Amino acid sequence: MRIEVLGSYGGESLECRLTCLVINGSIALDAGSLTQALPIERQVGVHSIVLSHSHMDHTSALPFFIENVYGHSSNAIDIYASSATIYAIRKYLFNNATWPDFTRLPNHLLPAVRFHEFQTEVPVEIDGVRFTPIEVNHLVPTHGFLIEADGASVLWSSDTGPTRRLWEIANRTRSLQAICIDTSFDNALQEIADVSLHLTPRTLESELQKLERSVPVLVHHLKPPCVERIREEVEELGNPDIGFLEQGKVYEF
Ligand SMILES: [Zn+2]
Ligand SMILES: [Zn+2]
Repeated sequence: MRIEVLGSYGGESLECRLTCLVINGSIALDAGSLTQALPIERQVGVHSIVLSHSHMDHTSALPFFIENVYGHSSNAIDIYASSATIYAIRKYLFNNATWPDFTRLPNHLLPAVRFHEFQTEVPVEIDGVRFTPIEVNHLVPTHGFLIEADGASVLWSSDTGPTRRLWEIANRTRSLQAICIDTSFDNALQEIADVSLHLTPRTLESELQKLERSVPVLVHHLKPPCVERIREEVEELGNPDIGFLEQGKVYEF
């Protein structure tokens, strides 16, 4: 499985792009920077989008992506998300006020976008890649995913505070090759991290107590003003399993 990291941050700046991965060239996982880091010829190859939750840093490229690829295929773009995320996107994004309702354009028989509701821990298979949504702990209903293809698996979660189920799944998945997890704020902003349900290097360390095995842990979703401090504080943890999910990098699992 080939995972391209288009954006690996929880905010936007000159150097930092919003959360978005492309898997095997055709599936986007979150859509924070889908239009900013991929040429249009390659955007056209993305047919499915899996969303973790409704927050803007994970959905903001959707309107422009659909405009870019619209008309290139007779098929709709398939968006896989929880009922809460679908509700929020319909109500606040494709609502004919902020942006046109592409589930009814050009018409309801041939829409540009089709929503597919997933259920917690019920796997969805897209182009040979299996996504199992796992509930995590954030301000709105949010899922991480166990992503499995070709005998390899990666556990990816973005925004979450301290959580449990994700680690249980990590402990029981034999083929696991990496865990990607939120570390949004540095330790000085612990209170903000706690109320917004994100992790800091300190809470990352306590979360990792729940992991009963050695597997690479790639942190991401750093907030741009916190990047340097987070990198220092993660380094200070002295855990050789912890690294960073690097923007612009292609991972093969
Ligand atoms: Zn986020
Ligand atoms: Zn969020």
